[in-house]
Amino acid sequence: MHTHIIPKNLPNWTDKFGYGDFIFLEHNDNGTADMMQGGKFFRRIEENCWDEKMRITDYEKYHTQVQVVCTIPVMFSYWAKVSDCVELSMFLNDHIADLVARYPKNYIGLATIPMQDTEAAIKELERAKSIGHVGIQIGSNINDKNLSEDEFFPIFEACERLGMAVMIHPWQMMGFDSMKKYWLPWLVGMPAETSRAACSLIFGGILERLPNLRVCFSHAGGSFLPTLGRVEHGFNCRPDLVAIDNHINPREYVGKFWVDCITHDIDALKYILNLQGSKRVCLGSDYPFPLGDLEIGKFIEDSDLSKEVQQNIFSHSTLEWLNLDEKSFL
Ligand SMILES: [Zn+2]
Repeated sequence: MHTHIIPKNLPNWTDKFGYGDFIFLEHNDNGTADMMQGGKFFRRIEENCWDEKMRITDYEKYHTQVQVVCTIPVMFSYWAKVSDCVELSMFLNDHIADLVARYPKNYIGLATIPMQDTEAAIKELERAKSIGHVGIQIGSNINDKNLSEDEFFPIFEACERLGMAVMIHPWQMMGFDSMKKYWLPWLVGMPAETSRAACSLIFGGILERLPNLRVCFSHAGGSFLPTLGRVEHGFNCRPDLVAIDNHINPREYVGKFWVDCITHDIDALKYILNLQGSKRVCLGSDYPFPLGDLEIGKFIEDSDLSKEVQQNIFSHSTLEWLNLDEKSFL
């Protein structure tokens, strides 16, 4: 339920719009492509980032038939002018909708929406649903604003009303500029970002006010669940700082939201399963990126977890999170 895809060819939005560090793909002779960010090299990617058939074959090796696809977080472009971000989001959402329409048994789509503008975000959310998306992927903060800010509430409200699932993906990592060495934004910043998002949605009362909103946090919820004891203790010992918008203990929400299983560590996964229950932990891979679980859950298949728990992780949790029926994929 957590894989990234990008169209093989992107418009050169920096040229078109006349500003900004929009992503553009420069293809190389050996089949790779360089993601250029406003003219500067960002990351080299391979054909499995866009080749829909190659992705299906890669997944078959690990007995997995269906991929939930969403864009690469660097594409969010929440910093752009609203109308430009709308155009970019529509382009990416149309690409995924077309893919899902052509391979309905192999792909499920999550859209991206211009979170920097509440009205435009809801409009694209509605359009995304109408073309076959079953949810959205959003960042862990929006231009450094926490997800508890009032301007985002109508978007979450619309997601609940429309039955669109929400996947929270860390991006625009805190501390990025001061810890570039050792890949720390990915290794330290991302787990912290996901916890920031979870704490914001809980303490801000968003999950409390929208009990039917189906939210899934990436990378097993980042550092949120591993530091739950600390978070709860903070809530209890300093309610004047923490319990100002929601008086419910944060532990009450555990098992109400979903997380993926990307831990690379069976003991860590068992800890997560103990808290969440197996119906709230989904098979995620972060394919096709190297920090992901590119053996698509092999560490779970090789574990001593019961077949029932494995089956919940491998499909039932995701189907419930996205409100989909298994029969559609058989
Ligand atoms: Zn990811």
